[in-house]
Amino acid sequence: MTRANFHRVDLDRVFLPFVAVSLEVITRCAARGVRYVATHGFRDLPEQAELRRLYVAGKGGKASPAGLSAHNYGLAFDFVCDASPRPGVQPDWRESAYRVLGDESTKAGLVWGGRFGDSPHVQWPGYVSALQLTPLRTLVQQSSLADVWARLDAERLSPKWRAANPKLAAELERLGF
Ligand SMILES: [Zn+2]
Repeated sequence: MTRANFHRVDLDRVFLPFVAVSLEVITRCAARGVRYVATHGFRDLPEQAELRRLYVAGKGGKASPAGLSAHNYGLAFDFVCDASPRPGVQPDWRESAYRVLGDESTKAGLVWGGRFGDSPHVQWPGYVSALQLTPLRTLVQQSSLADVWARLDAERLSPKWRAANPKLAAELERLGF
């Protein structure tokens, strides 16, 4: 049951088309014998600011400034590879444990963080860099997360986006989006 792989995150705060494709990706990974459990999905701006503060102080892992992470818009998941069938999650942090995740997420047209040294991270395309994320930060500050998602829905239905993201467009179409 793939939904169980997502029980630690609040799926209501993650962009629905991204949730649907991610469920597919994790099911395909499971079929290849590798189980991934989502540990982070949405993260609000104060949480992101705190992570950034810890990182800058040398007390935490690498973290983007508030508003400049795809997590702030429900457009990313972090996964942990569960190394054992025993109850609970036995994390495997070896780089090699995320190869199947990278392979299946890339095949589905998502962006795998392994491209930039963040192997557990998978996200929606087009909103990776600070330059790409800044317009979403402006929008969420002026209105709401719902408006960000409405903008992303309009974008993903455009011929231009579909031509630029053929694999993801095909997955979404198959899933009825
Ligand atoms: Zn992440």
